[in-house]
This record gives sequence, C-alpha cells and structure tokens, in this order.
Amino acid sequence: MYDVIVIGAGPAGYEVASLLGSGGKSVCIIDKNESRIGGTCLNEGCVPAKNFLETASFVKKSAYFQKCGVDLTINSFDIAALKKNTNCLITDLTDGILGKLKKAKVEIKYGSASFLDETTIQISGANEEVIKADKIVIASGSTHRNHPLMNLVDGKIISSKEVFELDSIPESILVIGGGAIGCEFATFFKSLGSAVDIAEFTPRLVPIEDDDIARTLKRELEKQGINIFLKSNVTGYDVQEDGVEITLDLGKKVEVKKYDKVLISIGRNPNTEDLGLDDGIVTTDRGFVIVDDTLKSISNMNVYAIGDVIPTPALAHVAYYEAKRVAATILGQSPMSENTIFPSVTFCTPQIASIGQSERALKEAGVDFKAKKIFFKINGKAKIKGDDSGFVKILHETETGKILGAAIIGNEATEIIHEFLVAINAELTIEDLSKMIFAHPTLSETILDLVSAH
Ligand code: FAD
Repeated sequence: MYDVIVIGAGPAGYEVASLLGSGGKSVCIIDKNESRIGGTCLNEGCVPAKNFLETASFVKKSAYFQKCGVDLTINSFDIAALKKNTNCLITDLTDGILGKLKKAKVEIKYGSASFLDETTIQISGANEEVIKADKIVIASGSTHRNHPLMNLVDGKIISSKEVFELDSIPESILVIGGGAIGCEFATFFKSLGSAVDIAEFTPRLVPIEDDDIARTLKRELEKQGINIFLKSNVTGYDVQEDGVEITLDLGKKVEVKKYDKVLISIGRNPNTEDLGLDDGIVTTDRGFVIVDDTLKSISNMNVYAIGDVIPTPALAHVAYYEAKRVAATILGQSPMSENTIFPSVTFCTPQIASIGQSERALKEAGVDFKAKKIFFKINGKAKIKGDDSGFVKILHETETGKILGAAIIGNEATEIIHEFLVAINAELTIEDLSKMIFAHPTLSETILDLVSAH
C-alpha cells in the first residue's frame, strides 16, 4: 500500500512523484518500460526536437557567418551523428531524472497501468502486479493524432516520433498541419536541404498565436522556400515504392504531388485508452480526464490528473506547474494559483513566443488596450546575429499602461519572452519598463526601444 501511485513518468509524472517523495509520502511511479522515463518530452518531444532544430539552425546561420570570414563550407550532413548525439543527451537527462526519483525514495515499476477500482492499479506486462494507494495521479500524457484518411506507413508516412528514426534527410516532404510542431519540423527539414510543403486545413499557421505573428511567420517561411498551402485538405494518397502521391484539395483547384515522406502533425490525443476508465471510475471527455480547479477528477476524490492527459495546453512547463500544484495539495501545503500565465513557444526559424493575453482575446473581451510593435530590423544585436527578421509586440491597458500581454517573432524569442513573464507577474506598466536600463547591444534592448517610443 502506497500513499500515492503516479501513472506515467513524463514531466508531469516524475515531477509530482519526486515532490511527493521528498515531502515524505511513499510513492510508486509506473511507466511502460525503462526507455519511457522522461516521457514524450525527453524521448520524442521537446529535447530531441530542439536538439535537431538547434543543429539545423547552425547550418542555416553558417551561411551568414561565411560573410563574416569564417571558412565554413558544409558539404554533408550526417544524421546518424545527430541521432547518436541526441541519444547521449537523452541518456544523460534520463540519469538525472532517475537520480531525482531515487533521492526522493520513489519506487519505479514498469508495465502498463490500469484501474481495477478507484485506488487499485493493475500493472500488466512482464511483471504483473496489483498495487494500491490512497491517491492516484494520472500523468499518462499524449500520443500523436492519426490523420482521418491516412495511417502511418513505415518510413513513408510518419509522425513526429519517427522523425528521430530517419536514416537520411528526405529530398521532399509534405508536413500536414501548420501548428507549432509542424512548423518546427518544416524549418528543420528546409535548413537541411529538403523541398518542404506545408498543408494546413485552416486559413492560417500557428492557430494559438495572433494574426500578425501568423502572417509574419508565413512570409518568413516562404522566403526560406517553404510552400504553404492554407485552407487545403488531403483528399487522397497513394503509397508507392519511392514515395507517397498526395491529392491536395486547394479550394480553387486540386493538385496531385509526390513526396519522399509525409509528416502528419495535426495534434495530439490523450493517453487514456489503456487505463481501464470505461466503467466510469474517472470521467473523461474525448479521451481527456476531466478535473476540477484543483486538478482532482470530477468523479473521484482520490484521483488527480495532470499534463497532456487533461485539456490544458500541451506543454511540458504547464505539466511541471500542474505537478507542483497537485503535490502541494496532497502534501497539505498552501494551494498554488490556478490562474497563472505561462509562455507559449515555437522553436522554428524564426522563433515565436507569446505570453499573457493575446490581441485577439483582448478584443473579444472588449478591453480598452493599445498594441505597440517594434521590428528587429532596428536592433543592432539582431543584425550581428545574422537575422533581423520579426518583431516584438506589447499589449497594455490604455488607461494605466499595465502590461497585459506580449508576443515576439524572431531571434531568441523563446528566451526574451521571460522578461515579459516577470513584468506581467510583477504588474509592471510600460512606463516602469521604460525607466530601466537594458544592456547594449542586446536583443532585449528592443523592448526598451519599444516602451520608450512615443
Ligand atoms: P508525456 O511526456 O507524454 O508522458 C506520459 C508518460 O506516460 C509516457 O512516458 C507514457 O509511456 C506513460 N504512459 C501512458 N499510458 C500509460 C499506462 N497505461 N501505464 C504506464 N505508463 C503510461 N512542450 C514544450 O513545453 N516545449 C517544447 O518545445 C515541446 N516540443 C515538443 C515537440 C514534439 C515533437 C512533441 C511531440 C511534443 C513537444 N512538447 C513540447 C510537448 C511536451 O512533450 C508535452 O507537453 C509533455 O511531454 C507532457 O508531459 P506529460 O508528463 O503530461 O506526458
């Protein structure tokens, strides 16, 4: 009998388990096998994707630094070396997570977990076992969403997970889905020489971002040579020996195009199918576990759920925060706020990041606000770094100047956004920011120029 059983060892699961273990609870964490420690994030998400993207962006940047005198001719790209390096990184970080769990005296079990009753879990697999706990935390994450028309076909029609298994960079690839993950992989493949098309069903890329960000991204991706088909739909496909023939309904016309590979990136589905929730032990909706504002199952006071398995934004840092909130509740500590802001980040080139309220949300809510924007073109450091595309936008209350939100597209957007994280949490106004000294020459200085502009 444990105090707590945690299902899933991704960011949500290992964070909550180690916090609870450190807080004196007896905790057991379950994942399918040893290679799943770290979950999607570590094994086929944030970490490998960003390692792939960082490498690809270096290849892209090298063209600029050649102009600065660096003799850097890149003749070939060895994907096997990148995969090896990525695996070393994953092993290092896995060791870190295992060390953290060990230090917190968390017991780890491997197998597929499912509910027998509200506090009893069956572990299936090589080591069958039935275990019990006072509380269960579901942190079983998510898996790629299938395309309604196409199944994955070995090596030809792939999801983001299979990108990390490729043996070569495809000559051509169609990315279906223009969300964050689709755009990230589109710039990865383009930087390494693939011909890349993006087919997006809706009228815009990156649907959670403001329209001006989506428009700028489209323009920048097109400058790189990526073809973008908005309002398009895949209506047919034919898997052939040497690729996949795709029928694309573009609204005004239908095109048939052939690609080496097709990457499906149309969202993610929560992992609840294996959990044995059919008999109503825990309420779900379209696969998501439904929780109250304390992250407790609405139908079961002993069960909590966190991370991608609940309908909050599917981001690792959101999962970490939810893990902290549940750990605080179970440990009887003062509750952590439900209403907090977090950055949205997309690591394509150019990068995108936003925080707080979007321009769209403020308009819909009828808030009296002003949007100020400044382009990186006037920033010295952006030029020094060889990429002055994009802009910083700040949204503030008209009367008070209080900062309500911000969005950035461009160099290091995913880092700079944290300045707004602090500013919004500290309830700063644009006038407060304008009185601060920012270092020169830096990308962050753009923010000072923006708030100081009349
Ligand atoms: P997961 O990481 O999915 O972990 C869940 C674990 O539960 C898995 O290991 C699974 O094996 C296990 N499990 C499932 N069912 C069972 C069961 N029945 N029994 C036992 N174990 C089970 N987020 C960011 O914040 N920044 C990024 O840059 C970013 N990039 C991404 C790039 C890609 C390509 C992808 C796919 C995702 C990316 N994400 C990113 C999202 C991020 O990976 C997820 O939000 C995060 O992993 C969610 O954590 P989690 O713990 O809820 O679930």
